Amino acid sequence: MKIHHLNCGTLHAPFVHIDSLVYCLLVESGSRLVLVDTGFGLRDYTQPTPKMRFFLHYMVVPRDPAETALHQVRALGYQAEDVTDIICTHLHIDHAGGLSDFPRANVHIYEKEYQAAQKPRGMMGFAYLPTQWAHGPHWVFHEQRDETWFGLDAIQVLATPETSFYLLPLPGHTPGHCGTAIGSTGNWLLLCGDAASPFHPLTDLHDRGPDAYRLAFFPRKITEGLAGPHASRLKALLTEHAGEIRGISSHDIYSFKEYHRAH
Ligand SMILES: [Zn+2]
Repeated sequence: MKIHHLNCGTLHAPFVHIDSLVYCLLVESGSRLVLVDTGFGLRDYTQPTPKMRFFLHYMVVPRDPAETALHQVRALGYQAEDVTDIICTHLHIDHAGGLSDFPRANVHIYEKEYQAAQKPRGMMGFAYLPTQWAHGPHWVFHEQRDETWFGLDAIQVLATPETSFYLLPLPGHTPGHCGTAIGSTGNWLLLCGDAASPFHPLTDLHDRGPDAYRLAFFPRKITEGLAGPHASRLKALLTEHAGEIRGISSHDIYSFKEYHRAH
């Protein structure tokens, strides 16, 4: 198994103290090439809808095609058609744009998240952009069964001889928001999606010291509201199983830089 850590959209909005990215993963395992979240896609840059144009402007996204998952997959020597599967944490505008760049892939989604995206409600509902899946992806819907992963509700969505892939329902950020766990015994990578936020010490997965949070702009209540109720439980899990599970979140530029410094 090899996991590539991709930035599929730089978010640099100094006026709200956000200096971040959209964290995606590309996993090579056996006959599978699996993308976890897709960030912004080519069409988001070339034919942005008014909502996307607003979002790109507001978050000061550089609109660099080289940051799309498609370009990064190609740079690694693959073609779009080689991506067999996509796993979605949720379908927000900054996570689902690349779906249309991989029309042949099976797209694994928690059924509740798909339903939530069809009938968006509230502030978080505004962050869905249905044109991102208007091409009709090969959806593979997953429902919760009686399965757990380290005590969290879990749905195994894929497995190769060496790697298991789980969706972990962590509702709050959106009604069907999920984390994703990838790996095997003793060696797991947990992408918490937006259920943890690096923008405030109380919702971050990691204790990074006060310097890291000079960027913390949103008050605790807002950050918790955006991330949902799971951050402290996830943090406790990572502390208890340090060495077995590495934890990251979708906008965690610190972990992304750490990973690339080490590799
Ligand atoms: Zn989101």
